[in-house]
Parts: sequence; C-alpha cells; structure tokens
Amino acid sequence: EDSVAGISGDLFEAYLKPYFSNYLRPLCRGDCFMVRGNMLAVEFKVVATEPADCVLVAPDTAIFCADEPVKREDEERLDGPGYDDVGGVRKQLAQIRELVELPLRHPKLFQTLGVKPPKGILLYGPPGTGKTLLGRAIASESGAHFVVVNGPEIMSKMAGESEANLRRVFEDAERLAPSIIFMDEIDAIAPNRDKTHGEVERRVVSQLLTLMDGLRPRTQVVVIGATNRPNSLDPALRRFGRFDRELDIGVPDDIGRLEILRIHSKDMPLADDVDLERIGKDTHGFVGADLAALCSEAAFQLIREKMDVIDVEDETIDVDVLNSLRVCNDHLKHAMEVTKPSALRETGLVEVPKVSW
Ligand code: ADP
Repeated sequence: EDSVAGISGDLFEAYLKPYFSNYLRPLCRGDCFMVRGNMLAVEFKVVATEPADCVLVAPDTAIFCADEPVKREDEERLDGPGYDDVGGVRKQLAQIRELVELPLRHPKLFQTLGVKPPKGILLYGPPGTGKTLLGRAIASESGAHFVVVNGPEIMSKMAGESEANLRRVFEDAERLAPSIIFMDEIDAIAPNRDKTHGEVERRVVSQLLTLMDGLRPRTQVVVIGATNRPNSLDPALRRFGRFDRELDIGVPDDIGRLEILRIHSKDMPLADDVDLERIGKDTHGFVGADLAALCSEAAFQLIREKMDVIDVEDETIDVDVLNSLRVCNDHLKHAMEVTKPSALRETGLVEVPKVSW
C-alpha cells in the first residue's frame, strides 16, 4: 500500500482500498474491473502483475496505479445507457437528475443546507415509454448501483418470501450504495390495501413502507417506482414524503418521436430518401418501445430482401454487400404497416396511423 505514489494515492484511498480490503480478489494481467465510489464508476485494467501472471491481492500486496488512463477503444461507454439514449423526455430528465442524481452525487450539499435529500420518485405512464431506460441512464451516468425489482415477479415468489426478498433488496442497496432501487410495476407490490383482500399483499405493502421510511438520509439510496396505474397504488405510499415527486412519462409528441427515431437509427445506414421528421409526424400513438421496434423491423425488412446475396452457411459476409446496405423509405414504410403502436393494442383509443407516403 505504501508504494502507491502521486495522484494514485487519492485513487487508491477512494477506490482501490475499499475494493480490495473486504475481499480476496484474484487478478490476472489483462483483467478489467469496475470500482465504484464517490458517485463515479472507474474502470481499472491490470497491465502487469508480479511475480506471476495471476495474483491474489492480499493486505500486503503493493498496488501501483498508472497515472495515465488507459484508452478504451472497443467501447465508448463503460456501463449501461446514457442520457443521450433517452428521447422525448427532456423536462422529466432534468427533474429526475435534480431529484435523484444530485443527492446521490452530492449528499453534502443537502447536509449543509439542512434539508433531507429526496428518497424516491414515482414515474407513471404507459409501458414502453422509457421509464426503465431513464432509471438505467441515471444510474450509469452517476455511477450508482442499479437494482431492478419487478413487482409481479417478487409477489409471485412463494408465499411469505416476498417480504424477505424485499428486505434483501434494500439491504443490498445500502451495502452497495450509492444505489437506485427501481421498482417496476410497483402497483403489484403496493396495491391499495383497502381494495385488496390478500393478506400477503397487505404485509408486503407495510414492509415496503417500513423499508422506505427506514432509509436514512445518509445512506444514498433512492427508490424509483414505475407504474402504469398510479391510482391503484396504496395511498400511504404517495403520502408522507415517501415519494418526493410524481412525474408523468407520457406518450411522446411528434418532436419527442423524432428524437427517439434519431436515437434508434443513429447506427443505421439510412438512404437519402428517408425522412425521419415525416415518420415522427406519422407515428401518432407510438411510444419509445414501438419506435425502437419500427426501426429494427425496417432493418429486418432490408435483410430479408438481401437474403439472395447473403449465404447463411458462409462464415463471413461479403464486405461489398455489407457496405451496400441502406435502410430506405420503403423499408420503413413496410415497418409502419406491420408495427402497431402499443397504445392501440392496449386501449383501442388511438387510430392506426395512415401511411401517407
Ligand atoms: P418502460 O419502463 O416505460 O415500460 P422501457 O424503458 O422498458 O419502458 O422501454 C423499452 C425499450 O424501448 C427501451 O429499452 C428503449 O429501447 C425503447 N424506448 C422506450 N422509451 C424510449 C425513449 N423515451 N427514448 C428512447 N428509447 C426508448
């Protein structure tokens, strides 16, 4: 430990020491590992080990940190989606950053001002609008640990285990803090107790309330609840500052849809005749997940067309064929005809958009 020098001293204290002091970790040359601390996720790569190519790090192992970061060429991002991957929710994103990222990153700010940092927010809106994606983006951009709890799944476990499972989730989140606990379909975990007759449900709701109330301001754990049916939640969950804010993640408008289309086609070679703005206007009722499906359906349509020049049995595909691939207007038009907005499937309220081109 003493041999760690220069700026690496800070890095060692902040990241590596806790990472190694609690566990015996074997390391081999070339290994990459992620260490979280101070709301940052820092990736380390083992460039050399002595005396062998593989070592077990013990308390007296000397660790040297290279001053210069190793450039990462194979991947742009370290972990998960970023803010750039979420479209059409600019206002909501700004609010979530303020409510979730700020307290996770700068707990001192809240301590200094003597205010309690937010403990939770509730996102509501139809499925496929990007609620989970938002949660993941916040977690990866702020380096927080991200746990997803699926409401129906946790409830379907054997009777009596749901509460224990829930407790474990909170314990793990505290241990690995800073953390975001994302509760998808939270209405399944916390249905209105007046309207449910199930004994298990009632107990689980109380357990969740207790766990949320038990989160200490300093623990740096934030709960994000997501639901399609905010009104079927137990009212106690929406009171007493358990969720500091409720945000509507609605169906995107045409500008939002354009943003989302741009995101999902950014790595796609598009032909010149593709007019994303027009598609954005013509996809009324489509949510983010529908637009993602639309883009991949268009790509599949192109692949289907090319099947005569692609030899499935062959190990490689001709570079000229790959370079010639362009998703064009017709592919997207076809995709529009076969992709239905999920709002239509769920409620029947939205008219199927007419393809005008
Ligand atoms: P929800 O949690 O609201 O049901 P998800 O976040 O699971 O929705 O969305 C599923 C997928 O649809 C995402 O992984 C993403 O590919 C796409 N998607 C949904 N909403 C958006 C959005 N606002 N921007 C970009 N992509 C989106």
